[in-house]
Amino acid sequence: MPGMRWVITKEVEKLIPGGNNTAVVRVNAEVCPHCGERLYSKEAITLFEHIRLQLANGDVAGFLPVGQTYKVAG
Ligand SMILES: [Zn+2]
Repeated sequence: MPGMRWVITKEVEKLIPGGNNTAVVRVNAEVCPHCGERLYSKEAITLFEHIRLQLANGDVAGFLPVGQTYKVAG
């Protein structure tokens, strides 16, 4: 990106790892149409950090499971 301030705002899915788990959250981000770089609001970054802590603490009762992640041996 840097320099140009020509970005579009759109809803994106952000993957948030915490502990051994990962959560996905949909937020609005400013996206650079050239390189795809995403800029998040302060609120979004605070939300990510909150979710990361919840994951790390196993506090996932409010989250919806969407499948398993498997590690392939070998
Ligand atoms: Zn860019």
